[in-house]
Amino acid sequence: MASSPRKIPFFEYPRLYLDEKKEIMSIFDEISSRGAFILQKDVTEFEENLSKYTGANYAIGVGNATDGLEIAWMALKIKPGDEIICCSHTMLATASAIKIAGGSPIPVELGYDNLIDPKAVEDAITSNTVGIMPTQLNGRTCNMEEIMQIADKYKLFVVEDAAQALGSKFKGKHAGTFGNASAISFYPAKVLGCFGDGGGLLTNEYDLFDKMYQLHDHGRDKNGEQKSWGRNSRLDNIQAAIINYKLKKYDLVIERRRQVAKIYNDLLEDVKELKLPPSPDSDSNHFDVYQNYEIEAENRNELKKHLNSAGIGTLIQWGGKGIHQWENLGLGKCLPKVENFFDKCIMLPMNIFISDEDIFYICEQIKIFYSN
Ligand SMILES: *Cc1c(COP(=O)(O)O)cnc(C)c1O
Repeated sequence: MASSPRKIPFFEYPRLYLDEKKEIMSIFDEISSRGAFILQKDVTEFEENLSKYTGANYAIGVGNATDGLEIAWMALKIKPGDEIICCSHTMLATASAIKIAGGSPIPVELGYDNLIDPKAVEDAITSNTVGIMPTQLNGRTCNMEEIMQIADKYKLFVVEDAAQALGSKFKGKHAGTFGNASAISFYPAKVLGCFGDGGGLLTNEYDLFDKMYQLHDHGRDKNGEQKSWGRNSRLDNIQAAIINYKLKKYDLVIERRRQVAKIYNDLLEDVKELKLPPSPDSDSNHFDVYQNYEIEAENRNELKKHLNSAGIGTLIQWGGKGIHQWENLGLGKCLPKVENFFDKCIMLPMNIFISDEDIFYICEQIKIFYSN
């Protein structure tokens, strides 16, 4: 086959650095020259910035979002036998945070927008249920009104896996600010990525903040006083400084991602073999930041091959399985909607590195595939 005219990788990690080399180098230089590596003013500023940006009362920088979610459940003191309901269409990290903190993850079905189905949550409640853990997936916030109503009715904790959802909103309120606590990820390929692992924990409740703070810093409280047993999961000061820098122009990043999604939706809406994610302007209740642009496609594996030979990178995420489908992990049951979804899902390139012309080319290639 002739070599393809374009190369559009799914994600280009080096560009996180190369596109802003001067600014990033000056951050490294400034922090390192100060010797400011652990819990310095940059982390404090990050925590203030994140709390101001999302509207959460408290924010804590942590090593990564998975640690953050685990710390949240530990602070809520879940114990063996406690059941926490999550969606099977999520990263395994959602369930492992529950498991490692001592509880039992109970995976349920997805709804019309591929996020957790509130009806399935209510149906899964038993006398052992203590919490709900919705994932704000692909940069979209669940219908948190319905989730919080269920939580209030049955007196359940809510910890949001908002790893993918910084800046995403439901009815004007930020992902990560609805439940008792939430975690956001700054993994490099996330909407806001740092230069390694990084995460943020959010809560509106002072007592929970105090407990989570201790858990993340050897049992010490905000004033450095030894209060309890803890672990170490702090956000590196250098990562905090990079996130502070990137937050300043974060709204532009979101705007561009929404634009990319809109172009995809407009160009692909007539392709009957595809099911597209909701368009950015389809529903005024949701403000999506498009961590991913994930479609469902007929003949998915062949489409992936076709796009690959046309130079276009795509991704079938998480090993192509819902979390209940990892039989060796023992969450096994039958969730047909999730299983059907994983037979069809594929992610198209979604990032600020691709141009409008790249998107035109990708959509053209998809149309060529289905017209044959
Ligand atoms: C990325 C991700 C996580 C884990 O975040 P880390 O910072 O890598 O620990 C958890 N849940 C979801 C839905 C994610 O996409």
